[in-house]
Amino acid sequence: MSKSYKHLFGPVPSRRLGRSLGVDLIPFKTCTMNCRFCQLGDSACALSERAEYVPMAEVLAELVRWSECDGQADHITLAGSGEPTLHTGFGEVLRWIKDNTSIASVLLSNGSLFHLPEVRAAAAMADKVKVTLSAWDEASFQQIHRPAQGVTFEQLIEGERAFRQEFSGELALEVFIVEGMNSDFADVRRIAALAETIHPDRIDLNTAVRPPADSGVQAVSDEQLAKLSEILGPKAEVTASFKKQTSPALEVTPEALLGLIQRHPATATQLAQDYNAPLDSIFQTLETLVAEGALCAEKRDSDTYYFHRA
Ligand code: SF4
Repeated sequence: MSKSYKHLFGPVPSRRLGRSLGVDLIPFKTCTMNCRFCQLGDSACALSERAEYVPMAEVLAELVRWSECDGQADHITLAGSGEPTLHTGFGEVLRWIKDNTSIASVLLSNGSLFHLPEVRAAAAMADKVKVTLSAWDEASFQQIHRPAQGVTFEQLIEGERAFRQEFSGELALEVFIVEGMNSDFADVRRIAALAETIHPDRIDLNTAVRPPADSGVQAVSDEQLAKLSEILGPKAEVTASFKKQTSPALEVTPEALLGLIQRHPATATQLAQDYNAPLDSIFQTLETLVAEGALCAEKRDSDTYYFHRA
């Protein structure tokens, strides 16, 4: 994909979504939350004001150009550097995808603005939506997600319940587990009870296998996730990528790696698995980007993670 795109990235390989073109509507780390496990770094403050954070005309022009020059993807996903529903025009992007392509659209959201009817109406234009449920009350919500002032757990739950009533597409809940914060069986039983009241089609169980902002945040083990998944019931599946991806091999250009790492810091091994590509060539490309000053490398435990240099 051409490096001249500002708001599009990928397509990136995904086990569940195949080749997924990313649309990023939000400046780096602009979010209603400042989750302890966020890979994008710590933010000075979370915010909840909706606005046209990037010009909608630019985003739509890039989508038109992409569809004319390339146009090959299995999904188009609104995701990236923050919370996409903060952008007042995210529904316009979903409408454009529906009107101009036969590609399924996906919205990845933390769900914190779904109490607003206008956000639910726009989100309902997506074919698939994933929202977050990793806490069980206001105190755990504050501890794990550190939301913007005025963003509450009650709003999140009520908004997600209301959306399910209005949305007939595929709704997934992501439960993100952090060791010692929400990893006890009792915690997950409380989350499971709430999840039942939302009636999702699927529950994705994840943990911090990618480097979080807070280096004190620990992933839980594969074995523990499997046990927690049983508590969440038959709709739950462990999606944390401990295992090799089975997605098709995609061309790995320096631009593709930069676009992905800007939104998802990763190790060379994780990227080789994601792209189903030789580790050596990924490593060489990453080291070249580090030498050019585009990326920085940071050692965490026994792994080297690559981050975008802002
Ligand atoms: S993990 Fe997602 S919801 Fe949480 S702060 Fe980062 S971008 Fe926002």
